[in-house]
This record gives sequence, C-alpha cells and structure tokens, in this order.
Amino acid sequence: MFLSHIDITTLVLVIHPDDYIFCKQILSDIIGKLTIINGGCTRQESVYAGLQYLQDIAPSYVHIHDGVRPFINHQQLTTIHRALTPSGGVLLAIPVSDTLKRVGNDKCVVFTVPHDSLFAAQTPQSFPYPLILSAHKAAYEAGQSDFTDDSALAEWYNIPMRVVESSSSNIKITWEKDIEMTDQYFRTAETPCPDVRTGNGYDVHRLVQGHGVVLCGMKIPCDKKLIGHSDADVALHALTDALLATQGAGDIGMHFPPANPQWKNVQSEIFVRHAVRLIRERNGRIANVDITLIAEMPAISPYRAAMTKSLQNMLDISLDRISLKATTNETLGFIGRREGIAAIATATVVYNDRFFPPI
Ligand code: MG
Repeated sequence: MFLSHIDITTLVLVIHPDDYIFCKQILSDIIGKLTIINGGCTRQESVYAGLQYLQDIAPSYVHIHDGVRPFINHQQLTTIHRALTPSGGVLLAIPVSDTLKRVGNDKCVVFTVPHDSLFAAQTPQSFPYPLILSAHKAAYEAGQSDFTDDSALAEWYNIPMRVVESSSSNIKITWEKDIEMTDQYFRTAETPCPDVRTGNGYDVHRLVQGHGVVLCGMKIPCDKKLIGHSDADVALHALTDALLATQGAGDIGMHFPPANPQWKNVQSEIFVRHAVRLIRERNGRIANVDITLIAEMPAISPYRAAMTKSLQNMLDISLDRISLKATTNETLGFIGRREGIAAIATATVVYNDRFFPPI
C-alpha cells in the first residue's frame, strides 16, 4: 500500500537483525523500491534508526507504521497525508465504544472510566520529519525510553497531535487468533476482488521516404519515415490509448488534439507519461503492457531489447511486465505494400482502492 501511494516516495523497513536475510528473500521482487535496515532493542530505538536513515533524504513528512497492521489502505493514507501541517502531527485512531473499567490487583472494579472522548491509537502516526527527528533525538539524549508509541513521544516534545478517525479494518495482528482471522479474510468468498482493468489501443501511420522511423521512443534507421502530427510513433500512440482505456479516459486525440500546434513534432513519450500520471493519480498500478507492431519493415528484432528498455523508462515497471512483438502482414494490404505501420497495444492496470463486490 505504501509503495503504490502517489504521495510516498521512500519506504524504509526497520526489522530485527535476525530477520534480515529472510526479509531480503521474501521481498526480493521489490527490494529496489524499499530499504531494509536493522532496528534496535525497542520499538522506540527502531523508529529512531529509521528516522536517522532518512536524514540524507530529508523528507517533509514521515509516516511511521507498524508492520503488524497490514490492512491500511490508500484512502486512509491520503486522509492522513492531507491532514498534516508543518507544525503538527496526525495519528489514526478509533473511538472507544466498549465501556472501560479500572480494575484493582484483586480484579475488582474500582470505577468505570467515561469513554466519551477516548480513542484507541493506531498507526500510521505521521509527522513533519524535522520535528519528529528532533523529538526522538531529545528523548534519546534525555534517556526517555518508555514511550509506547510515537504520538506519546511527540506529545512529550510538545508537538500538537491530531486524531484522524480510523476504522476497525486497520487491525493489529497480535495474537494467534488474529493470524487465523487474517488467513480467513484472504480465503473467504467475501474477500473483494481487486479492480483489474484492461484496455486496448490501435494506431496506424503512413510511411514515406525518409531517414528512419521512431518506434517505442527509439529512432530506427531505414530509408523511410512515419508521418504524423507528432513524431508519429505508432507504438506509443496505441499504448497511450490502451492505458487511457483502463479508466475510460478517452483517447489520445482528446488529450492531445492534433489541431493544437503545441503537439506538432513532439516526442510521443509525453503522451505515455501523461497516461501513466493519470493512472497513478487514481492509485493505479500497471500490471503489464503488450504491444504488437505490424510492419514489413524495418526489422524490429535488432532493436527489441533497447525498445523494451525505453518503454520501461516511461512506464516504471519491471521488464517482465513489458511485451513487445512484431509481425509482418505477409505482404498483404497497405502494410504489405510498405505504405504504413500499424500497432496494437493492450494494458492491464490494477486500481488499488477500487474493488468489485464479492463474487
Ligand atoms: Mg497516431
């Protein structure tokens, strides 16, 4: 959830040193997108280690989260993020609904605690980075090591804290029964399906005499060129349409009207990056793209690896999620006569905060 949230740029996982190799193994797919560091003997020491690691990056804000709350969602992260100010922190918390009893050592009730304004603290607890770093440093230097959460430490340091109401879904996995409940949650038919969407795109551009065609953002030498309003990169135009289609956002012509001279001769990479930005703004993640070029010439295979890498730079997804193929038209039709090149693209995007009802 944190990795795919648009406002979060850096993720630091603080772990027990004994778990370092295990964590590197199970997180190998995403190891380039987060940093794993060793924590200390207490929760407070571990958080301080994570904050110190971030000193070179110096983010504006930091969200501190317990890994045992795996059901945090994008909507909650966005709400917290927007509630942050440069002078105060925010924590997720849930109103206490049960009646609370103060009990003595003999298990006898001493009195009933009014719960009108009581909240149970959760995480993330989020702060202006410089303030919470200073607070942890001050606590360390003062020998204060008994804070049960970062909000308590911030309160001690006089950082104003504000509660954002959470939900019971942000549970803390503590007891064995919680693990069983979590397993059950993932197994049950009640588990909602993630919103996986597929879009396709198709484009054609005319070939004329020239000095090379641009495909997937790469200039490929040959004795022809593709003509169009932009650089006529037929592959990227089809890909842009496929990406836009996953959120019903129309086609490339709606976003970049050919009549607008602003887009004359531009590199089509900007169209793809625009579609990717729209997807990220809606918390989407591109699962894979598949492009088929239909062309008698030029030969694609010598450039396929570089073209795939070019696509990776635009899409920021792993290479195994990018498929690029080429076929001829068996000399049939306008493609067979080398009058044009066509491209077909398919894209699959997972929109994390949107779910279908249970099936
Ligand atoms: Mg086009």
